[in-house]
Amino acid sequence: MSAGIIGEALRQRIAEQLAGQFKGDIIGPDHAEYEETRQVWNAMVDRRPGLILRCTAAADVVAAVNVAREHGLPPSVRCGGHNVAGKGMSEGGLTIDLSGLREVTVDADRKLVHAGGGSLLGTVDAATAPHKLVVPAGIMSQTGAGGLALGGGIGWFSRKHGLTCDQFVSLELVLASGEVIEVSADSHPDLFWALRGGGGNFGIVTRFTFAAHDFGPMMRIGVSLYDEEHAAAALREYAALVPTLPRNVGWHAALKHDMPALPFVPPELVGRRVVMLFSMWLDDAEDPAGEEMINRLCDVGESLVKASTVMPFAGAVQHLIDVEFEDGHRYYTKEAHVADLADEAIDRLVDFWQDMPMEGEVEIIGLGGAIGDVPEEATAFSNRGYLLWLNFAMRWDDPARDDEYMTMTRDAVTGLKPWTGRGVYVNMLNFDEMDRVVEAFGEDKYARLGRVKAQYDPENLFRINANILPATAPAEVASS
Ligand SMILES: Cc1cc2nc3c(=O)[nH]c(=O)nc-3n(C[C@H](O)[C@H](O)[C@H](O)COP(=O)(O)OP(=O)(O)OC[C@H]3O[C@@H](n4cnc5c(N)ncnc54)[C@H](O)[C@@H]3O)c2cc1C
Repeated sequence: MSAGIIGEALRQRIAEQLAGQFKGDIIGPDHAEYEETRQVWNAMVDRRPGLILRCTAAADVVAAVNVAREHGLPPSVRCGGHNVAGKGMSEGGLTIDLSGLREVTVDADRKLVHAGGGSLLGTVDAATAPHKLVVPAGIMSQTGAGGLALGGGIGWFSRKHGLTCDQFVSLELVLASGEVIEVSADSHPDLFWALRGGGGNFGIVTRFTFAAHDFGPMMRIGVSLYDEEHAAAALREYAALVPTLPRNVGWHAALKHDMPALPFVPPELVGRRVVMLFSMWLDDAEDPAGEEMINRLCDVGESLVKASTVMPFAGAVQHLIDVEFEDGHRYYTKEAHVADLADEAIDRLVDFWQDMPMEGEVEIIGLGGAIGDVPEEATAFSNRGYLLWLNFAMRWDDPARDDEYMTMTRDAVTGLKPWTGRGVYVNMLNFDEMDRVVEAFGEDKYARLGRVKAQYDPENLFRINANILPATAPAEVASS
């Protein structure tokens, strides 16, 4: 039997070993919830773990990690299951599922949020909204806070407050040895540096403590939609205006294959191929300056429709695109940082969008602002300086189209090379890009990450991820 694969005899042995000390669920292929539990966001990932240990508390995670180490089973670690490459699920081996660790508590006086290592963004937002607080994270509710935060975490509030990993105050971490430690700027500072962007390489976080910020619960947003004739002109205006914006406004563009039925979309535009500009005011929703700014951004170009409105952030804005990126479809994504959104780059994007047969969207994400306040060398997360990011988020259901659609997407990104920047966001590395991990961090940071990895996970137990090899790794560990 190959290493890391769990057969019936080993499954039995592990179940006996865990009896009495593991409070969560031990889920093998015969368990009634096995099929449901092994699903992840991307239907292209169809993995069948030999065993899923669904944990309910840090003690369960310790027991699961001990089992993994003692039996030589590099575990996959599942939080929200949104990893685009499906790294949360093991093929034949051990999956440690954190979905039982979703408790979120808010210390409103100190503006601290304690979130279980399996929390989803929606769970965190729902807990903070009643306190008029927010933890800056991503742009939809179903993404796991665990994977997102450990890889960096970009989203609606990044321009004003920085990345999710910039909000780390401390982390409770289960190491490969089974030891539980608290990591912060003062305690294990090198590891704290590595956890701010270095992903799940160093252990399993069972509790995040985040700094929260005053916000909401309402958010002012603006939307304008453009048809094929007017899309390029609107995007040119967008590109010109983005560098002039204050950091309390965010502005994204989405070149959509088909417009979903969102609250501000007239029925005749539902299902149509449109470009959407989406702006958000990151301060008080009733601030007249915000209304003026959002109206100004909605006025760009010749739109089919425009709307400025105020909505609950946690209850509505954070769910707007959930339906477009629901679990269970075939997805292929590709990210690139934008060095220059030049006219020719816009023309290429629009050409691709007009012809793209697959569903989904090409996203231009306006970042910059506070992300760049943190010095580049202060965290493992890299390439903070870019103002715009590009993400091809493609979707379809017919497996027969996989090769054609993935090639089409890759070619589109390759064609944009003259205008894209250095590096790649580690959280968006796809299954065909695992040779780009060094590029995601840059050689110097990767070398430092390797040294931290060698100290805390010398055997590379946590390797089902965008893997950083221990600096002292023997050849056989390095190649697995
Ligand atoms: C629809 C969609 C929307 C997205 N939106 C955004 C966005 O707005 N902003 C953004 O920055 N990114 C976004 N992403 C990318 C996202 O950050 C990554 O896909 C991330 O890996 C998802 O984390 P997860 O916990 O859901 O993933 P999972 O598949 O559950 O886990 C992925 C990896 O994270 C690690 N991990 C997860 N939890 C822990 C933990 N507690 N301790 C240790 N390791 C852990 C493990 O290595 C695991 O392999 C999005 C992805 C999708 C699919």
